[in-house]
Amino acid sequence: MDLKLKPLALPSDNVRPFVISGPCSAETEEQVMTTALQLAMKGCHIFRAGVWKPRTKPGGFEGNGEKALPWLERVKKETGMLIATEVATPEHVELCLKHGIDILWVGARTTANPFAVQAIADALKGVDIPVFVKNPVNPDIELWVGALERINGAGVERLGAIHRGFSSIDNKIYRNLPMWQLPIELKRRYPDLPIVNDPSHIGGRRDLIAPLCQQAMDLGMDGLIVESHCDPDRAWSDAKQQVTPEVLDFILDKLVIRQEVSTTESINAMRKQIDEYDDQLIDILGKRMKVCREIGQYKKNHDMTILQTQRYTEILDKRGAQGSLVGISPDCVKAIFEHIHEESVQQQMRIINE
Ligand code: PEP
Ligand code: MN
Repeated sequence: MDLKLKPLALPSDNVRPFVISGPCSAETEEQVMTTALQLAMKGCHIFRAGVWKPRTKPGGFEGNGEKALPWLERVKKETGMLIATEVATPEHVELCLKHGIDILWVGARTTANPFAVQAIADALKGVDIPVFVKNPVNPDIELWVGALERINGAGVERLGAIHRGFSSIDNKIYRNLPMWQLPIELKRRYPDLPIVNDPSHIGGRRDLIAPLCQQAMDLGMDGLIVESHCDPDRAWSDAKQQVTPEVLDFILDKLVIRQEVSTTESINAMRKQIDEYDDQLIDILGKRMKVCREIGQYKKNHDMTILQTQRYTEILDKRGAQGSLVGISPDCVKAIFEHIHEESVQQQMRIINE
């Protein structure tokens, strides 16, 4: 389904990146105001703060709820920044609208639940407010797209996506794996959908914020949502990943923003070369498969099994080594040959069963 989109029309979204920042949670009125004033001094236009906090386990700080909404209203009144928060239920949506919240986002755990997303979408019918949809916790692009479609289906055309990474057992470096191929695929499908990167929840660590912001910019992402706190070490949630507004400003200042130039003479020439190599690749793969089918016929005639694991391991090892010599990672070579091998086996199976 196509998305019907309108520009977000936020105060800073005509420059890349546009930045949303503020604490993980609105803890106290004082913490909210101190952080907001510091951010406003640094030129931030959009303030975020979690009011309802989805926590993995009970017993943690689950947000101040409705009580915190007037604090955000005060931020808007005293700093002029727009205010944004997460909604997970229709009641949250209603309360946000009542308190003049300017921007809403749907959290990662909610995006993974189509019932919850539909309930939020129903509550948004007829309301013109920008809504961002975070990726679901699991790396399922259709679930992400489905949530965007549901919110868009309610008539919300000022829509954006937030890339906050994906849960994985492999969390040695990142709290949530970036898996950049997913936001890239989203951009390919919906070039007009703004994508905001959330380095705080991807990295889970202060020192990863700067490199993640840079990667997001190098990939042409539109904006950043970064958690900041006036006293990060004492934050009530996500303390390890929050930075002061001062540090945030430093990080943003160091970003190199490259222009998105889709083509030049030299790029065109190089792309032509790539097209020629791709032609040859497919041609050669076709020839390789033909030989595989001939081997299949031979195996059939001589009652031999298709899968000969020793030969397969040998191919992976040889080509892995060759790949390293020409600057291709062994993992990549392995993945390519696994696909080629799978197709070869399929083709031989067909011959044997003919
Ligand atoms: C948040 O933005 O504070 C948050 C809870 O994020 P996520 O939904 O990405 O976990
Ligand atoms: Mn957080």
